Amino acid sequence: MNAAAETLEFQSEAHQLFQLMIHSVYSDKDTFLRELVSNAADALDKLRLEALRDENLPADVSDLHIAVEIDPENRTLTVRDNGIGMSRADVIALIGTIAKSGTAELRKRLAEAADPAASQALIGRFGIGFYASFMVADQVTLLTRPAGSGEGTRWESAGDGTYTVETAENLPQGTSVVLQLKPEDADDGLFDYTSAPKIKQIVKKYSDFVAWPIRMAGGAE
Ligand code: ADP
Ligand code: MG
Repeated sequence: MNAAAETLEFQSEAHQLFQLMIHSVYSDKDTFLRELVSNAADALDKLRLEALRDENLPADVSDLHIAVEIDPENRTLTVRDNGIGMSRADVIALIGTIAKSGTAELRKRLAEAADPAASQALIGRFGIGFYASFMVADQVTLLTRPAGSGEGTRWESAGDGTYTVETAENLPQGTSVVLQLKPEDADDGLFDYTSAPKIKQIVKKYSDFVAWPIRMAGGAE
């Protein structure tokens, strides 16, 4: 890690939610992709709006899109956007903090939920955002650079209560989220997120709600 690197702890509420998520019986793991794609779409919406407000914004808005890439050999899945991006301060404030009342409310209700079926219904209804990544990944790396200006940031966590943040050079505008997928046997082989047809099918299911192009790359057909 470079000199500007720091290791930080998740806010305790966020950590508790992680634990609930990771060990939950929530079976609809596919939703992690919906959450990441919807964050990417939001980032593109924000950049488009920003570019309309400020016509001198030094950002590239010529080819706004989302890319989903899989690398079966290394068991990684990447969701990339060339949207608004985040500063280091944004990353620390937004990722790993439960500022959103919706998530705090979900955590409270989960703690009160009577049985696994009730928990599952709650998670499905609220959505769990970025944290959903940890249902399928044992390490998550987020690389981001604000559109227009500013330095790049690398955020990484194994979902174990801490995360690292450091400066990253030569990043393109926008955000990439790289998931190191859990070993296949962790799920009895039921959820193979390195399978291109499987990922295509999930993306198709959610992409009806997304106005931006979603490009797929990698993996055998
Ligand atoms: P929500 O989308 O409901 O706010 P998330 O956990 O999905 O909750 O994301 C938290 C915040 O992190 C988002 O509101 C956004 O500000 C920021 N964020 C997440 N993904 C991205 C992204 N791809 N580009 C820019 N900002 C992002
Ligand atoms: Mg979200």
